[in-house]
Amino acid sequence: MDLKAMFPNLNTMWVRWSAYEIVDYHGVSYLMPSPGSEAFQYNCAEQPEILVADALELGRQITENADNTGRACASFAARHGLFGLGGGKDVGPFSSGDVAPCYRPVNDREYGEELRRFQDEPRLLYRHFLSARGEAAMAEMPAIASELRFKLTSGQMPQLVCELENLLSALRLFYALLITDSAMPLKVCKNCGKVYYNLHAKSEFCGTKCRNYYNVKAFRSKK
Ligand SMILES: [Zn+2]
Repeated sequence: MDLKAMFPNLNTMWVRWSAYEIVDYHGVSYLMPSPGSEAFQYNCAEQPEILVADALELGRQITENADNTGRACASFAARHGLFGLGGGKDVGPFSSGDVAPCYRPVNDREYGEELRRFQDEPRLLYRHFLSARGEAAMAEMPAIASELRFKLTSGQMPQLVCELENLLSALRLFYALLITDSAMPLKVCKNCGKVYYNLHAKSEFCGTKCRNYYNVKAFRSKK
């Protein structure tokens, strides 16, 4: 995918915190930055392949009900941030002067996303991925990007800068570009089932460890 050619100057600044945890707020589980964690500003459009592969792998773990998906979500968030789901939907009870974490400013340490809704996104993506591989029934996909903004910089040599609204919009757009890529760079490891990104058409394993392990297994079963 030549994202740079498709969207020159794609720049989506996002915040990720160094650690996340599950917090209970009036009986609802939220994914939130851990106390004492550090904030990092980064361009989430810089490594789209890693974002998509990580999200699909998270979706696989959630779908297959791996133990402690909350922890898997927390480690995904520590790498990429929260999705930016906060947007007017009533997800928790209000109490006087106290507002649910999803209604707080997105870049705030006090901002959180409901774990159940957070998990829905990678799960949906993974279901679509399976259907594209012919391994599941057709899955409906939500709109790709909720908002794509174009800005023109001023001064000499003005540049057209494209911005996405949040991490979720970036993820959906990058996924759409990768899944429709004829080179099919999104792959499933033949040994461990992990979803990974590799441009080589013949790539079958997520790493040398899995390739060696698989070959030893195949050799033994032949004997
Ligand atoms: Zn593997």
